[in-house]
Amino acid sequence: MTTTLVETPREAADLVALLTTREPAEEAALFAAADAVRKEHVGDGVHLRALIEFSSYCRGSCKYCGLRAANRELQRYRMAPEDIVAAAVVARDLGYRTVVLQSGEDASYTGEMLAGVVREIKALCDVAVTMCVGERPEADYALWREAGADRYLLRIETSDPDLYATLHPGMSFDNRLRCLQTLRRLDYELGCGVLIGLPGQSDESRARDLLFLADLEPDMLGLGPFIPHPQTPIADALPADLTTTLRMTALARLLLPGAHIVATTALGTIDPAGRERGLSVGADVVMPNVTPQQFRALYEIYPGKICINETPDKCRGCIELRIRGLGRHVAGGKGGRPKDSFPQGVDRE
Ligand code: SF4
Repeated sequence: MTTTLVETPREAADLVALLTTREPAEEAALFAAADAVRKEHVGDGVHLRALIEFSSYCRGSCKYCGLRAANRELQRYRMAPEDIVAAAVVARDLGYRTVVLQSGEDASYTGEMLAGVVREIKALCDVAVTMCVGERPEADYALWREAGADRYLLRIETSDPDLYATLHPGMSFDNRLRCLQTLRRLDYELGCGVLIGLPGQSDESRARDLLFLADLEPDMLGLGPFIPHPQTPIADALPADLTTTLRMTALARLLLPGAHIVATTALGTIDPAGRERGLSVGADVVMPNVTPQQFRALYEIYPGKICINETPDKCRGCIELRIRGLGRHVAGGKGGRPKDSFPQGVDRE
């Protein structure tokens, strides 16, 4: 039975009230309720997803992102298909059960090339494969699904169409929605999420983001704090604050009790204990980096990213220690769609 003192808010005004309260007791009750709901619905296990950032090339112009095509100061890299597969094998050998293949929107990898990578990884490794390569034609999404890809991560970043248009020159909010619908139709486990603290984003807008996500019902959620990058048009904007990011995480858990929610690396960047704080207010996933070390610093979506000098095995050990420090444990299994993974009455770990 849920031991929540906070009624799950369903109205934007109630969400705004909880996002902005100055009452420490209200905040503490929100965080405790989210932690209790997390424990009840997804258990104490923390799922690890091994992140492989295989290309920093991007045709996009997102105003908050250091990988945007207009950033000429960034040294770019692309990993060969066989090197992506090799990184997945490293992840497998470190005990990861999910690999996330992430890149900028880099059309030099054809649909068939990435399908080949997915097939090879699935043949060599007993892992779930999550794709995170942005907007692509439906044919590519279908090809990767047929090749064995299990999940797709495509964040909406903001559910406000006007703010979306301001921050994403040359992109279409409607197309983003279409991509999400297509991925769902193709039966991917769907990941979505937003950036918190974007310039021009109000508390009302953040509340609507939460309602949008509750309506979408993704299987996975990433709620990252905005961190300004010096080589972007919004370099002078203020970064997101930890409190708002934690409150958004907690509210997302109340609204989507069974989702997998990431304690993002960006959260660990704005505060040294950020990921632990996120795990304590509703999150149940961490995404350690297994990108080969020579490339890590170059995948600079935002500056100051943690863990860029660590080796994959060091990251694995470090994150496990942090999880154990919270009295939690690394979850076994691939951590798939909660309703498939944890049917009623079955061990949730
Ligand atoms: S957010 Fe994604 S699509 Fe936009 S510039 Fe960065 S990598 Fe490219």
